[in-house]
This record gives sequence, structure tokens and C-alpha cells, in this order.
Amino acid sequence: ANAALFQSQKMEALGKLTGGIAHDFNNLLGVISSGIDMLQLQPRSGDSRTLDSMRRAVERGAELTQHLLAFARQQPLQSKKCDLNELIAGFESVLRRAGNSSIRFEIKLQENLPPSLIDATRFQTTLLNLVINARDAMPKGGNITIATSGVLLKEQEIGTLPAGHYTKIMVNDTGCGMTSDVMARVFEPFFTTKEIGKGTGLGLSQVYGFITQSGGEIVVASTLDQGTQFAMYLPIVDGKAIAHDEHEEQLEKVLI
Ligand code: ADP
Repeated sequence: ANAALFQSQKMEALGKLTGGIAHDFNNLLGVISSGIDMLQLQPRSGDSRTLDSMRRAVERGAELTQHLLAFARQQPLQSKKCDLNELIAGFESVLRRAGNSSIRFEIKLQENLPPSLIDATRFQTTLLNLVINARDAMPKGGNITIATSGVLLKEQEIGTLPAGHYTKIMVNDTGCGMTSDVMARVFEPFFTTKEIGKGTGLGLSQVYGFITQSGGEIVVASTLDQGTQFAMYLPIVDGKAIAHDEHEEQLEKVLI
């Protein structure tokens, strides 16, 4: 079912290609072609400025095609048994660097989480995507909190996830938040509210695809002018058959 959903998302993405990306691409080609016209008409005047804008347009075009290629490729996941806390801690300095001096970072990891089967690199890219969005939502600064906890979900409590043990990873910010209209569309491919050149609208749709392909679920909650929370639920290895009473006890304590 997840694969089918992902496939339909890809089709939808391809359908929107003509409207969104092709439009941007045409604008960039326009910049380049009028630059060429100018250079042909007056080969000497203002060459370097014209060439600079042409170079920027080409670079931006190349960036767009990179994003599109990455999106179309969707390499198969290389999932391994991982400690999500370790993946977060090992990536902390990169995540911090994505912020800026007016952003405070807090990382709260619940100890002794059971492992999950996950593609480590894609998991870290996912965190980076969420942190960059959080940063962009806080131009005047604020707090980003990343937290992990073990949760025991009942049947269909979160989306269509089966009952069992999961690790919940939260990424919270105290930024601008979003309207319910925006919230309804955030996981849609090519949906962006950022200005041209700043956003592709592919970040969260890739995050969504990755999390659901990994057997998990991502949910968003947001209050305008207060902030946004993304909560990801990832199944733990053998989530239904944990024998250790300790783990059981610990997970029950944080039951949401
Ligand atoms: P992009 O970042 O390129 O716009 P995304 O798919 O990552 O693409 O995000 C889509 C849109 O969702 C953003 O343009 C923004 O409007 C909204 N959004 C995502 N994360 C946040 C956040 N933390 N706070 C407020 N709005 C957000």
C-alpha cells in the first residue's frame, strides 16, 4: 500500500512538472537567451554583468535538474539495524551548522531506545530537511528541539500504522507556523511558499516518501505565529515481540 501511495505521488509530481518546474526553467532560459542577444548586439558593453546573470541562471537550472533527477531516481533504501539516537548525535554538528546564531538547539534523546531498521543516510538527510525548514520559519531566531522517545501505539492511532512499538522523533520549532491550507499541502511534491530560487517544494514530499517506505508515518501540527511540530514514528526492530520487561516498562511509561 505504501509503495502504491508513493507511486501515485510520483505520478502526481510528474504531472506538476509542466506547471511548476517548466515555468521556472523557461524563466531561466529567458535570462540566458536575452543575455546572448545583448552580447550579440553590443559585444563590449556590460559583458561581465550579463555573463554573471547568465551564469547564475545556468547554475540554478542545473540545481533544479539535480533535484528532479534525485526525485525521479528514488534510490532503493539501504536499511540496516540502527540506533536512531546515535544517528542523531552523530549528525548534531551538521544540524547545528544549518541553523544560525539566533537559533537555539535542544536535543533530548531518551536513553536505551530499541533499534530500528532504517537507511541511515536518508534518515540524516530527513533531519536536515526538517531543520532547514525550521530555520527558514524563524528569520528572527527561536528554538529548534529534536527529541526521541519510545511509544506504544494502538491499532490505527497514527494513520494506518499497525499496533506496536515505535520510536517517535520530534522536530519542533518556535517559528511562523502555518495556516491549515498550507498544512494540508506540505507533503505535496513541488508545493512551496518560498520565493523562487529558495525552495523547490520537494523536501517534505521526499521526507514523506522515505518515512512511509520505512514502515513509519509522519504527522505535522502547527499553530500560526507559534510554531510547528513534525512527529515521525518509525517501527522498532521486532516491535511486537519485545521480551525484555525493562524495555516494556520503559516504553509503557512514555505511552502517548
Ligand atoms: P521547500 O522547503 O522547498 O519550500 P518543503 O517540501 O520542504 O519545500 O516545504 C514545503 C512548504 O511547507 C514550505 O514552503 C513551507 O511553506 C512549509 N513548511 C515546511 N516546514 C515548515 C515549518 N517548520 N514551519 C512553517 N512552514 C513550513
